[in-house]
Amino acid sequence: MARIKQEIIEKLKNEVSLVRLLESQGFKLKKHGKDFICHCPFHNDKTPSLVVSPDKNLWNCLGACGVGGSIIDWVMKREGISFRRAVEILQHDIGLIVAVAASIILFAKLNVERFGMI
Ligand SMILES: [Zn+2]
Repeated sequence: MARIKQEIIEKLKNEVSLVRLLESQGFKLKKHGKDFICHCPFHNDKTPSLVVSPDKNLWNCLGACGVGGSIIDWVMKREGISFRRAVEILQHDIGLIVAVAASIILFAKLNVERFGMI
């Protein structure tokens, strides 16, 4: 199997928003200074102790389990899958985002051609 390129890993770590991913997974994130906090799914968390930093796109549990890392670590731990599989899933995710953006641009162009709109 080919090695996953470092630039792809960096791209995913930087461009796939942890905050957005967690929200899409049903986590209720609360603003906490410049970070967000929510209940940690990896231990029996009574007070929210999972900190998500949108600046660095990192997460960290300050409670019992004390785990943390990048968006790739999150997907691996949450889904119980390998590094490679987590990268594949996130690449698919970013692919969808790119595809949606491209279709919006195409739609806008068609409107300009058809109706002379800018
Ligand atoms: Zn925890």
